[in-house]
Amino acid sequence: MTAVLASYVEEMRSWRHDIHQHPEIGFQETRTSGIVAQALRSWGYEVETGIGKTGVVGRLVNGSSGKSIGLRADMDALPIQEKTGALWQSKRMGMMHACGHDGHTAMLLGAAHYLADTRKFSGTVNLIFQPAEEGLGGAVAMMNDGLFDRYPCDAIFAMHNMPGIPEGQVVLRKGAFMASSDYATVTVKGAGGHGGLPHQATDSIVAASAIVMAIQTIVSRNTNPLDMSVITVGAINGGQANNVIPDEVKLEISIRSLSPGTRQMLERRLREVVSLQAQSYGVTADIDYRYGYPVLINHDSPTEFAAKVAASLLGDSRVSPQGQPLSGSEDFAYMLERIPGSYLLVGNGDGQGSCMVHNPAYDFNDKILQTGATLFAGLVESYLPS
Ligand SMILES: [Zn+2]
Ligand SMILES: [Zn+2]
Repeated sequence: MTAVLASYVEEMRSWRHDIHQHPEIGFQETRTSGIVAQALRSWGYEVETGIGKTGVVGRLVNGSSGKSIGLRADMDALPIQEKTGALWQSKRMGMMHACGHDGHTAMLLGAAHYLADTRKFSGTVNLIFQPAEEGLGGAVAMMNDGLFDRYPCDAIFAMHNMPGIPEGQVVLRKGAFMASSDYATVTVKGAGGHGGLPHQATDSIVAASAIVMAIQTIVSRNTNPLDMSVITVGAINGGQANNVIPDEVKLEISIRSLSPGTRQMLERRLREVVSLQAQSYGVTADIDYRYGYPVLINHDSPTEFAAKVAASLLGDSRVSPQGQPLSGSEDFAYMLERIPGSYLLVGNGDGQGSCMVHNPAYDFNDKILQTGATLFAGLVESYLPS
């Protein structure tokens, strides 16, 4: 199979570069999903567009088995001005594929073409091209549009490239693999006044500063040191002049964890610490707490299955079956709450362009297109043996 897939590398590279030159951010992937839909149709897939606004599903049925598998790729870009200097650099100002979703889309298209040409499987393949992974929850949008009701899947798989992991190395993990990511805006309100007369004011700046310091003790004192969690205050805004005490300060906070229980505890402690700190300084603190993506939890048996498939295709030395979890987040987590499956990482290597994702100098490594497509196709042929 690896040898056969090599003949699809050139077209994968050209899709990748074309999509890279024309990046589209979340829920605006009309051009990208058009390319995907047209290609799938030309190979004989039954295609539905507009699922989750700009999502596409391609279904291919072969043989008589009643089993089904879902493979998912994300298609959206980021609002970042590209600085790679690549020949295929983004042609759109302020937008680029800085997370490699151009590569994921091309990998799944390569596997789609191979599967349609070779048809060495028995069952139903559902290819899920998802919009808006970057923060907007395209996975949920597709599920709310009936994705798994209309395209039932016995198991689902997705892949993400990862800089810093050797080129083509496959990393899997049973259990929690990516963090939950929640957000809070805290508005601290006091009574402003003259900077020289603090006793006549209730200082929101001093109270907000105390809150910032106090919430740092939640991770260090309330969570199990073996259970990763992060609380980051990413913005603190209030005041304009050195001699004026402002009424109000706003804090923007990011909260991440690797278990649903810790996630709940972090929210409860954040609310307690913020409210009681505010009370002790005589100010009020309004907390707007929003849930982002949940913890991504890989199911055991699909993960073991995927590790075996990867090892048989690529060799044991290129597969790490139980890698380290990551503090990034991923909306494939919602799909895994509904359907058993697994999320895999493929090393992007450390060559040119392989700084961390979401960086203006990042670029997807074309050398792993074949690895990704081979894995996707191999999962189908092993899950749906003919
Ligand atoms: Zn990303
Ligand atoms: Zn990504």
